[in-house]
Amino acid sequence: MPEGHTVHRVAADHNRDFAGQCLAVSSPQGRFRAGAKILHGRTLTTVDAHGKHLFYDWDGKTLHIHLGLYGKFRRHKSPPPAPRGAVRLRVIGENKSFDLNGPTACEILSAAEVERLTERLGVDPLRDDANVEKAWDRIRRSRSPIGTLLMNQSVIAGVGNVYRSEILHLLHIHPERKANTLSRQEFDELWDLTVKLLRIGKRYNRIIIADPEAVGKPRSRMNRQERLLVYKQDFCKSCDTPIESWSLAARKVFACPVCQPEW
Ligand SMILES: [Zn+2]
Repeated sequence: MPEGHTVHRVAADHNRDFAGQCLAVSSPQGRFRAGAKILHGRTLTTVDAHGKHLFYDWDGKTLHIHLGLYGKFRRHKSPPPAPRGAVRLRVIGENKSFDLNGPTACEILSAAEVERLTERLGVDPLRDDANVEKAWDRIRRSRSPIGTLLMNQSVIAGVGNVYRSEILHLLHIHPERKANTLSRQEFDELWDLTVKLLRIGKRYNRIIIADPEAVGKPRSRMNRQERLLVYKQDFCKSCDTPIESWSLAARKVFACPVCQPEW
């Protein structure tokens, strides 16, 4: 599942490539034919991201996209090649085009529906209007494990399975620790680190946790194995202890039992 950095990157790219243009919109697969008809020939005003959700504003009509587990964008030059697979949405601009396959949501929402949706989303660390106090309030009151809360999109929107393991590892916090035992200082560190890592992820279009100095390479040159510290790793890169993994909030979490002692 793409995490918030991917979604914000798509929003930035699509703003650059398509905003302000009158676009050709279709649904080669057919499942979004009625919606595409409404958007076809309209001008895309702006693309906005909140957590893992994308909102495309077309002159007052809002297209909502959620990639889910299988959704995927494909970029093309205009004119695009023949559709590959089940293309739900095809957008053709002056110079660039994109296809969207397999999203969980691709729908036109009314203003009220957009409001209802964004109201139940948590604070997004990549948004300028992020309300840090709201996130802190949810965390300090919860007896759930912090590793569960980080996956809850109504608390912090955009953090997914890779980031939660990596962030907690960097902070030496055990994923099962109850959220309400975190001090304000620990939460502030968690928040600042989350903002920093998601921004790096958006910039490089991939999750990069490792410190370039420790790896001895710039971020752009790190390979898959070098970029992450704990997620799907066999041994801790700090202390060589075997990494433990178990299911938490329906997904596998990874932690070092030495660096992240149980609370
Ligand atoms: Zn360790």
